[in-house]
Amino acid sequence: DHLINQIAAGEVVERPASALKEIVENSLDAGATDVHIQLQEGGITLIKVSDNGCGIQKEQLSLALARHATSKIRSLNDLEQVGSLGFRGEGLASIAAVSRLTLTSRETGSDYAWQVETQEGEISAPAPAALQKGTVIEVRDVYYNTPARRKFLKTATTEFGHCDDTCKRLALAWPTVSFTFSHNGKVCWKFPIQSRQARIAAVLGESFMEEGLPVDAANGQLSLYGMIGSPTQSRSSRDAQYFFVNGRFVKDKLVSHALREAYRDVLHHERHPVYALFFTLPPDLVDVNVHPQKSEVKFRDSGAVYRLLKGAIQQVLAGTVAGAQTPSIDT
Ligand code: ADP
Ligand code: MG
Repeated sequence: DHLINQIAAGEVVERPASALKEIVENSLDAGATDVHIQLQEGGITLIKVSDNGCGIQKEQLSLALARHATSKIRSLNDLEQVGSLGFRGEGLASIAAVSRLTLTSRETGSDYAWQVETQEGEISAPAPAALQKGTVIEVRDVYYNTPARRKFLKTATTEFGHCDDTCKRLALAWPTVSFTFSHNGKVCWKFPIQSRQARIAAVLGESFMEEGLPVDAANGQLSLYGMIGSPTQSRSSRDAQYFFVNGRFVKDKLVSHALREAYRDVLHHERHPVYALFFTLPPDLVDVNVHPQKSEVKFRDSGAVYRLLKGAIQQVLAGTVAGAQTPSIDT
């Protein structure tokens, strides 16, 4: 039902950047190695994403836009082991409910590409289209049909900033994929396929890389890898805090608390550190289905996670302080 879809869309599509996140995550789930993102007016008038992933077969095109249709998990059991970024099957349906959406795709091995469009929640029949490979999604005029939500859209500049953040987070987590990001016809940034180190440098800047402190710690099945800003480095913006759990950007109180405590214990100040940290653990030890936007997670053993984080960061920081005692990682 169109109205129900529009209401539910509010949870997933908070702003253009959240639509963009769902779309790019689909490209990554589809195994794309090259993703092009083109925006107009901060994504308000156009979000266009092209990928070279596996594509969608003709018969599945309208299903891809239907609510709760996902090709990624089959049962609740699979949710325990979810390895894909998407699994709720509501990303595209939600976006389609509040925009004019065009989906063009060519399944790998197929001789033809097909296109469907949505208008007021109605999905058109697949029409032949021209596309070499992969999928192209065009989302126009977000919230054109929901004035109450449209009012909450900020200026194109602000919405652009959110889109830029969102894509940089994804780019950081996926150095094995090349990204091109353009706005109003101009390329803003472009990252080739590169090493994890090189991608961190590309996103966070060479100086962060040169002065930053590498982190590499593990405890049993938990591991932590990445960089934290050196304590002497000039204070950067709070936004330069990237924490990924199994490749997913996460905002977590436990994480920020562990880091803050580590800084306080070793350096005796509470400055907000800059970091790009990648935390991995077996998928069944973390619940990613806490929030529709999947930006929050629940760890099964949050104590162990906290101790590993704090211990690892303390150890790295202690190395920068003459005479400081190196705390051991105790879990
Ligand atoms: P979810 O990602 O949770 O499965 P979505 O609504 O985001 O749900 O997408 C629905 C389905 O459409 C996906 O399960 C996938 O099969 C298909 N799909 C969407 N985007 C792409 C893409 N870029 N490449 C291939 N398949 C896609
Ligand atoms: Mg999805």
